[in-house]
Amino acid sequence: MSTNRPKIVVLGAGYAGMMTTKRLTQQFRPEEAEIVLVNKHNYHYQSTWLHEVAAGTVSHNQARVMISDVFNPNRVRLIYDEVVEVNKDEQRVVLENSELSYDYLVISLGFVTNTFGIKGMEEHAFSIEDIESSQLIREHIEYQFAKYKSEENPDENSLNILVGGGGFTGIEFVGELAEQIPKLCKKYDIDRSKARIINVEAAPSILPMFDKELVAYGKKSLEDRGVEFMIGAAISECTPEGFVVGEDKELVKAGTVVWTGGVTGNSVLGKSGFELTKGKVNVDSDLRIPDEENIFVLGDCSWVMNEEQGRPYAPTAQLAMQEADVAAANIKALVNNAPLESFVFDDKGTVASLGDTDAIGSIFTDTKLRGLPATAMKKVIDNRALFMIGGPKLVLKKGKFRVF
Ligand SMILES: Cc1cc2nc3c(=O)[nH]c(=O)nc-3n(C[C@H](O)[C@H](O)[C@H](O)COP(=O)(O)OP(=O)(O)OC[C@H]3O[C@@H](n4cnc5c(N)ncnc54)[C@H](O)[C@@H]3O)c2cc1C
Repeated sequence: MSTNRPKIVVLGAGYAGMMTTKRLTQQFRPEEAEIVLVNKHNYHYQSTWLHEVAAGTVSHNQARVMISDVFNPNRVRLIYDEVVEVNKDEQRVVLENSELSYDYLVISLGFVTNTFGIKGMEEHAFSIEDIESSQLIREHIEYQFAKYKSEENPDENSLNILVGGGGFTGIEFVGELAEQIPKLCKKYDIDRSKARIINVEAAPSILPMFDKELVAYGKKSLEDRGVEFMIGAAISECTPEGFVVGEDKELVKAGTVVWTGGVTGNSVLGKSGFELTKGKVNVDSDLRIPDEENIFVLGDCSWVMNEEQGRPYAPTAQLAMQEADVAAANIKALVNNAPLESFVFDDKGTVASLGDTDAIGSIFTDTKLRGLPATAMKKVIDNRALFMIGGPKLVLKKGKFRVF
């Protein structure tokens, strides 16, 4: 095997990292390039399922996939370690336990929670960031139920769950809670009215990416299943007891407080000295950092402009996976001294689940879905992501098939 083969290092095994690695193994024969995938854990997880893990409606094992089940370690060098920073001048990645040089680098380290500086939010609220943080929420909610049942004079607010943020993650999460909380009430023999699910959103509406009709449908569906909304209510502080909300600074109390109101690019980007736009790296149309010949930034770490609309594309799994195709093709082009492709997003639409039995969606250009067709479509999307990463075997092992 040639020792002169270029070394391509992919950081992060999320949607963008897994797909880039897969495409690279298709673009290059083993003797043509060394491919290295670095990830914090030995598993990939479906970030888009984390709200289900947090609510307890999907097990953490279903949402994660062993990376070595997808890539043969003889074909892709797998390093399970935490990326600390990138030293671009020396073409080196610093990991917690070692260092790594590269010829081509793909940064796809995903998101971190952004609390926008809201006082106390980082200290007192949970966030849905990865498998561990989601498991912690699930365990905490169940602990509140067990504690309530075992105490003689339990805190009447302890079963309340406050969710800050009425965007995609917040709404999908309260949808799962609407399914799970009645089950926990039954399990612990507690009256359903004792556990409130409250979503707090500062903007005048939830789910800004959908039209008014779909939003109204989604809101009613959730309200019918016991979700309460405080809309147009800004959170000024998070305390150990709950959120301080609105102009009259009402303290809304809960035993479980979760912040889903914002994400930004991984903090490694800032530590590495990259120029950031709202916590992300602005990339050229070929997905490289301007003036950096050999560094691509993808997924939730990248700021990719939608030139037509004059604003960046929303960070989604769909976007991350499409970027991966172009990044892998462009690395191949660079190695071959060929022209690079520009990234063009093909938006296939969005579907938001409202629990396991209801959903809303807007697909292709203007087809609106709700109820059963939207629920079925959501499962198709979830299974498609598994298929893209690991083929039919992975779909059969981890896929979602139940629609009712
Ligand atoms: C609850 C929820 C629901 C969502 N629903 C949808 C949806 O329905 N549709 C949709 O399109 N999008 C959805 N999204 C957004 C979508 O999940 C993200 O846009 C997508 O995951 C971005 O992919 P990525 O590859 O950039 O990052 P991720 O998929 O987040 O992957 C990042 C990877 O990097 C690893 N990593 C992070 N830091 C380090 C480090 N320092 N060292 C080593 N490894 C590291 C992580 O462990 C992870 O494996 C949802 C997000 C959430 C949280």
